[in-house]
Amino acid sequence: MSSSVLKEADRVMTICNACRYCEGFCAVFPAMELRRTFTAADLKYFANLCHNCRGCYYACQYAPPHEFGLNVPKALGELRLETYAQFSWPSALKGLFLNNGLVVGLVAALSVAVVVLLTLLFKGHAAFFGTHTGAGAFYRVVPYTAILLPFTALGVFILVSLWKGVANLWRETGGQPLELRDLKAHRQAVWDVLRLRYLEGGGEGCNYPDERFSMVRRYFHHAVFYGFMLCLASTSIAFFYDHFLCRPAPYPFWSWPVVLGTVGGLALLAGSGGMLYLKKHMDRAPASPEGFGMDIAFTALLFLTSLTGMLVLMFRETAAMGTLLTVHLGFVLGLFVSMPYGKFLHAVYRYAALVRHALEQKRGGV
Ligand code: SF4
Ligand code: SF4
Repeated sequence: MSSSVLKEADRVMTICNACRYCEGFCAVFPAMELRRTFTAADLKYFANLCHNCRGCYYACQYAPPHEFGLNVPKALGELRLETYAQFSWPSALKGLFLNNGLVVGLVAALSVAVVVLLTLLFKGHAAFFGTHTGAGAFYRVVPYTAILLPFTALGVFILVSLWKGVANLWRETGGQPLELRDLKAHRQAVWDVLRLRYLEGGGEGCNYPDERFSMVRRYFHHAVFYGFMLCLASTSIAFFYDHFLCRPAPYPFWSWPVVLGTVGGLALLAGSGGMLYLKKHMDRAPASPEGFGMDIAFTALLFLTSLTGMLVLMFRETAAMGTLLTVHLGFVLGLFVSMPYGKFLHAVYRYAALVRHALEQKRGGV
């Protein structure tokens, strides 16, 4: 971990702890106020508690051009990126966090190419240009086992990798082993996540994409989060139908997998598209340049995955289905492969930081 990044995070937090003007803005400031000095572990915890709302940047009398040049979102954002690499598992792959935007883009392109080439190799041109309808139509393009086995193996790897990462974060930031009575802290953190409490800011939203307060980032975040969860529910139900009820896809429009997938896909499309628009127009001063590439790559991948998923649904009765399905599966593969090595970590690491915050606030101390 770079000592200059830690030093800068320590400097800004030390000044903030003397000032405390921003204490109502988010969870970082109450957590900071429980301490008089900061260890590296504390600073890494704060970094994952920050969600880059930028309220403290625009409100700060010491922000540039003041000689202190205080930029809390940037300092914590740069440290947060370093924690992603430090806590990731397996650690041999932490180089993937360097130029992460480029890495995720290449992984996505490669994944699409692999799925298209393998389909061409094993199923021929007919898979792409034939019209496939009726039960099991998707499997006439990409066989059932070619979907099930790699995605199950990847799913298990992702769960293990995320679990190890969170365990590393918890241990290395000084978290104590959790007990049964700490379930209340989980309840608080889950509730904070479900309503995206801190994206409300002081009640008027984040300062995004510029200095003005706005709720729009919160709405787009909600759309991405709930859209993703609905798509996950749709895929799980489809798996259950297929595997246990012997009812292979595609399903009728008013079936659970299609209804949930359609609502979720549209929400994900709107949310990720909106986030991309905000990122394109945002003030870059309170952002880490490295983090910008990571955010764009992950959000674009979510957008392309949901877009191709919706296109498969719209054109599933036509000769375009084969091509659209293989490209969609390629993007899903890219999303899965890059999940433990990119922006998705924010979701799990921030949840862990919120649990820690709820515990500290309940105890009234560190
Ligand atoms: S960001 Fe600036 S205004 Fe806010 S607490 Fe820190 S020093 Fe004070
Ligand atoms: S950017 Fe927002 S979330 Fe991060 S420390 Fe400042 S006020 Fe808190």
